[in-house]
Amino acid sequence: MFARSAFRAAAPLGQSFRQYSSNTAPKATTATPWIVAGAALATGTFGYTYLGNQQTVHAEAHNPGAKAFTGGDQGFVSLKLIEVESYNHNTKKLKFALPDEDMTSGLPVTSAVITKYKGPSDEKPTIRPYTPVSDENDKGHMDLLIKVYENGPMSTHLHNMAVGQSLDVKGPIPKYPWTENKHDHIALIAGGTGVTPMYQLTRAIFKNPNDKTKVSLIFGNVTENDILLKEEFEKLENEYPQRFRVFYTLDTPPKDWAYGKGFITKELLKEVLPDASQENIKVFVCGPPPLYKAISGMKKSPTDQGELGGILKELGYTQDQVYKF
Ligand SMILES: Cc1cc2nc3c(=O)[nH]c(=O)nc-3n(C[C@H](O)[C@H](O)[C@H](O)COP(=O)(O)OP(=O)(O)OC[C@H]3O[C@@H](n4cnc5c(N)ncnc54)[C@H](O)[C@@H]3O)c2cc1C
Repeated sequence: MFARSAFRAAAPLGQSFRQYSSNTAPKATTATPWIVAGAALATGTFGYTYLGNQQTVHAEAHNPGAKAFTGGDQGFVSLKLIEVESYNHNTKKLKFALPDEDMTSGLPVTSAVITKYKGPSDEKPTIRPYTPVSDENDKGHMDLLIKVYENGPMSTHLHNMAVGQSLDVKGPIPKYPWTENKHDHIALIAGGTGVTPMYQLTRAIFKNPNDKTKVSLIFGNVTENDILLKEEFEKLENEYPQRFRVFYTLDTPPKDWAYGKGFITKELLKEVLPDASQENIKVFVCGPPPLYKAISGMKKSPTDQGELGGILKELGYTQDQVYKF
């Protein structure tokens, strides 16, 4: 059974995750940590750079049922902001209208979009990738969950946008192509906003009744308030307890926090990941640079996964078993 084999209860971790034991406060683990606080403070942009068609398309023609993002030479599509929701102390949910109300984003799972913005005094435009949290088949809109970083040009611009303003968006930026039952069991290791690609993949798996993939999410954050999409993940856990489990760990947990405390460590991963010797598993990683460094080694570029390193290598996973978003 999934719950038994994938999440073997062992003493220290059994204390860390309520599902497997009690409400007692968890003990911090130690080996090879990446600092979860680093998720909020670390420099870098997930190492993303982008070169390509920078032209903006004003896709105003009515084209019901079509996809908003077709890639190739399409260039950037100008999308109007139609709704802003304050999500938590540093994150907003931004809803953009697709060019036609019958259009879907058309983004394949998994893929991202890139956004472009050039401020009045900027020499060059800023370009950053985001993974929408709306469903790929939602009609007429695309939603982004955006955390603001101090002096971060794109996230600050997005947080300052007013309803009615437009943003240049291009996609799809293909990531790991998913087909149903491609792997028996996948593990998703995420820090902070690195969870959005994991949510895209999880959503696609569980909305497809033919897809029987088991999913383990290991999700590090600074505080409980920083956990994005917690309700959505809890709903899936309740609906699919044999196939979906989430392990949260917080740098600064509240009193009586029933999950993990501190860093994503080797001990934690050894405990909750499917064993490297199991056939047909895949481990996905997404988060700030310190997370990649500690867990999997850095990506070299958006198209070069770089060598596998970090804890996953130490635990015996192979290059082929790991994908860095
Ligand atoms: C595939 C992919 C999907 C992504 N999806 C999302 C998403 O859905 N929502 C979202 O908010 N972000 C997402 N990101 C991150 C996003 O692309 C930007 O890196 C982020 O918005 C910061 O951009 P910026 O221009 O505001 O700041 P930057 O100029 O890039 O950084 C400013 C400062 O903010 C801090 N910082 C920047 N990025 C991070 C980070 N990731 N972790 C910790 N500290 C950081 C650093 O201190 C940095 O010096 C994603 C990244 C990737 C690779």
